[in-house]
Amino acid sequence: MSGIDIRNVSKAFGQTLVLDDISLTIADDEFVAFLGPSGCGKTTLLRIIAGLETLDSGEIHIGGRRVDDLAPGARGVALVFQNYALYPHMTVADNMAFGLRNTGVKPAEITRRIEDAARILELDGLLARKPGELSGGQKQRVAIGRAIVKNPDVFLFDEPLSNLDAALRMRTRLELAQLRRRLKTTMILVTHDQVEAMTLADRIVVMKDRKVQQVGTPMDIYTRPANVFVAGFVGSPPMNIFRAAVTDTGGFATASVAGQAVATKVAMKGLPATSDWRLGLRPESVSVSETGQLPATVEFVERLGERTLVYTRLSDGTVVTAEDKGISRVAMGDTIRLHVDGARAHLFDGEGRGYHAVDAQ
Ligand code: ATP
Repeated sequence: MSGIDIRNVSKAFGQTLVLDDISLTIADDEFVAFLGPSGCGKTTLLRIIAGLETLDSGEIHIGGRRVDDLAPGARGVALVFQNYALYPHMTVADNMAFGLRNTGVKPAEITRRIEDAARILELDGLLARKPGELSGGQKQRVAIGRAIVKNPDVFLFDEPLSNLDAALRMRTRLELAQLRRRLKTTMILVTHDQVEAMTLADRIVVMKDRKVQQVGTPMDIYTRPANVFVAGFVGSPPMNIFRAAVTDTGGFATASVAGQAVATKVAMKGLPATSDWRLGLRPESVSVSETGQLPATVEFVERLGERTLVYTRLSDGTVVTAEDKGISRVAMGDTIRLHVDGARAHLFDGEGRGYHAVDAQ
């Protein structure tokens, strides 16, 4: 049992409130990512769970036991840092053993755990090396190994991949996913990288401005963003969001953009009575098509190989990011037409709350 219950946690540094009444339940063996822009408080929340930071009010429970008044070592958690935090003068094996030596674990058991962790992380041949003789990815695996040998109830990862170059980052991400399947333990990952959060987590906690903005599965967050912030933050390139007038067409909202009607699958029933609307369209819902309803001028083209991103401007000045196939003829300065897939459109009210197609999933 290692589920985590965060109850009404608030934290200020001096006069600055960093976490405002956060409540969150993480299930036993669940992998949750805290995702949000720099400074939103995600590391602070992780450190509060680990016991490296105190909370001002609220409670933390792990496995049904209140832990916020316990020392870090008594909480059953292991933290993996972004900067590895390895001891440079110690071997890989000693780095892994260090945290266990004063905890009463017998030497033979320490050796067994190190060998197990080394096997899981493919560090077998490297146990006698010092950190200076390792690559960045290997150092990160040692840092993870040091956490594994503690047999923690909960793994806490603080941006563990952000010091790695792109290729290694991708490989280590995959390793982390595989590790997770082998270890079957509750894990929290702090990241500002949405790809990491989307690919690794069972659920994502999107944070901003001291608050949790949305908690949901990666696809929930992507297809049914709770508000305009989440809609713009998750997804790359970001969702197109523009002011729009909304009218009722047979029970569904039709939004007017640059004088053109976009028929959505957002039900009128349940929409608040307001005239303050924004329409949200992901770039993949806007495609370059000769028969498209929106005329646009191409301002910039990014050829990514498998697809092409086309940055355009409509006649009323609205900027729209669209997609085209990988081998695209579109060039800067062209006048093109855009086809909008209104069935996948989102609406946001004046407060920023999101409304989605009835079949969005
Ligand atoms: P990042 O992705 O940049 O690490 P974060 O979301 O993890 O950001 P935190 O590190 O939790 O953010 O910091 C939240 C806020 O608290 C920031 O404004 C930060 O400057 C402030 N803060 C963090 N630690 C301290 C501290 N020890 N003393 C004072 N302010 C702090």
